[in-house]
Amino acid sequence: MRTLLLAPDAVGIARGAALLRAGGLVAFPTETVYGLGANAADPSAVARVYAAKGRPADNPLIVHVPSVESMAEWAVPDERARELSKRFWPGPLTLVLPGRGLMAAQTLALRMPRHEHALSLLRAADRPIAAPSANRSGRPSPTSARATLSELGGRIEAVLDGQDAEVGIESTVLDLTEPQAAILRPGGISSEEIGQVLGEKVGQAARHARSPGVRYRHYAPDVDVLLLSGDDRSALRAAAEQALSARGGSWYIGLADTAPAGARGLVAASVSDLQKALYAALLHAEREGAPLVAVLPPASPEAAGVIDRMVRAAGKEVRAREDLEE
Ligand code: AMP
Ligand code: MG
Repeated sequence: MRTLLLAPDAVGIARGAALLRAGGLVAFPTETVYGLGANAADPSAVARVYAAKGRPADNPLIVHVPSVESMAEWAVPDERARELSKRFWPGPLTLVLPGRGLMAAQTLALRMPRHEHALSLLRAADRPIAAPSANRSGRPSPTSARATLSELGGRIEAVLDGQDAEVGIESTVLDLTEPQAAILRPGGISSEEIGQVLGEKVGQAARHARSPGVRYRHYAPDVDVLLLSGDDRSALRAAAEQALSARGGSWYIGLADTAPAGARGLVAASVSDLQKALYAALLHAEREGAPLVAVLPPASPEAAGVIDRMVRAAGKEVRAREDLEE
């Protein structure tokens, strides 16, 4: 199959919407990462999403909607969902709610993306659009049209062209099906921001489910990724220096304060810069065949999303001190 690259103009969006209505797969830009769109009400289109991504059948998809109001067409929002969508939609927050109608027996994850072309495509398609990240399962998500084409080209009908994603990691997934709201996946909106709107503490389901999550790699490129973490930033920098010098041509991904002098890779000035460029850097290191990528998570609590992706890209954690003692 030849994958079309559609311009994000009226013609390209109309073409993408027609493909979606006909059961096709159309990737499109959002503010988080590029998504792989399909008509959520068409079981064969949804089955093709799982096949194109190689996604395990028990991992459900997020349905994307073009407005706050459309939330109530597919799910049963409570007061918390209304408050949170009013505050954070459009934006990188996915709400898991009880389903409505055909979905009444299930829960449903819903999000309204903060991206002009994504919203135009959703409105033009006039269908609920399931859109997981446009990566093959287990790999880093693409944050550009080019990375999307190299990930899924030949497997899907089209990619809607656009700018690089501005957030860089996937949305925060918040479970609202229980009395205590709980984060299932950290992301673009922090649990503190959510807690402020709800006026109560938000649970951290991801923390409890941490060991099963860490058992398999996710967001991982096809190179060795070494995670170095710890509280002592200068010990961390020393550990990175040691790891990088052991294998020439290795990459560093982290903030400037823990970067060895002259490190190749991603030396980020802020948590948001690191978050935005993380996946592209992992994919770049893979393309270059780097022998090792040393990733160093930031220390700040608002970095929960990017820390989660770094830990899971590595699939294991190495404390700086143990590493130095080797
Ligand atoms: P992705 O589509 O790749 O952005 O991943 C979607 C995330 O949302 C995954 O972590 C799913 O497990 C989660 N998700 C989607 N639907 C549900 C649901 N109904 N209940 C709980 N989690 C969900
Ligand atoms: Mg994903």
